[in-house]
Amino acid sequence: MNMLLFDHVTKRYPDGTRAVDDLCLEVAEGELVTLVGPSGCGKTTTMKMVNRLEVPTSGRVLLNGEDIAGHDPVRLRRRIGYVIQQVGLFPHKTVLDNTATVPVLLGERRTAARRRAAELLELVGLDPAVYGGRYPDQLSGGQRQRVGVARALAADPPVLLMDEPFGAVDPVVREHLQNEFLRLQAEVRKTVLFVTHDIEEAVRLGDRIAVFGQGRVEQFDTPATVLGAP
Ligand code: ADP
Ligand code: ADP
Repeated sequence: MNMLLFDHVTKRYPDGTRAVDDLCLEVAEGELVTLVGPSGCGKTTTMKMVNRLEVPTSGRVLLNGEDIAGHDPVRLRRRIGYVIQQVGLFPHKTVLDNTATVPVLLGERRTAARRRAAELLELVGLDPAVYGGRYPDQLSGGQRQRVGVARALAADPPVLLMDEPFGAVDPVVREHLQNEFLRLQAEVRKTVLFVTHDIEEAVRLGDRIAVFGQGRVEQFDTPATVLGAP
């Protein structure tokens, strides 16, 4: 069963820009798909149509077989993890409370949410005993991105959207984060859309790679096939 389906999706912005043009894409449950291509080819727009930060001009986006057009965007966003290049953490909340925010909003008890948050911090490579009580400005860039990933996983969302999550850290740290993310994904098996303009990153992380041209997917295949293509 596909978890995410783009069915002839087109997005035209009010100024006339056709950012996404008749896009069709199917992502299986538990699959990590990287969206790769040059700047401006529609990757971010595609991703934002999954959590209704953007709405398609035509076509449908289906989540687990259901057209998300009928879903309340706020609830939808709580069910879909979202990690961007510079994650916005709450500056006056500790790392632990930042991570536990959404479950608490969803009505989970604070103690249980914090216990789970500590497990997730461990999973993303941050010792909760050391980092749980720190504030965001006491972390390195790489550590903040790790907290962003832990926080996105806290509501146990079926789908995770990642938009250049490791794009703003230096190359050594990035490789570190990529490796940790692969280990994490092997454990949690989320359905992931991962935007990057770095083909190496796309190949390294993706079960399949969607190679974007102007507003379209030009190739959708495994890393080996994409690399082998002329
Ligand atoms: P990518 O993520 O591949 O860099 P985007 O989805 O951000 O591409 O952008 C695709 C196209 O849509 C670009 O031409 C961009 O300038 C345009 N675009 C993106 N957001 C908007 C917007 N809010 N209004 C108008 N045009 C936009
Ligand atoms: P990472 O590989 O996670 O990005 P860095 O190499 O940037 O980590 O940082 C190395 C160490 O320096 C980390 O253990 C981190 O705790 C510490 N550190 C970085 N920035 C700060 C800061 N602003 N305040 C306190 N400690 C910091």
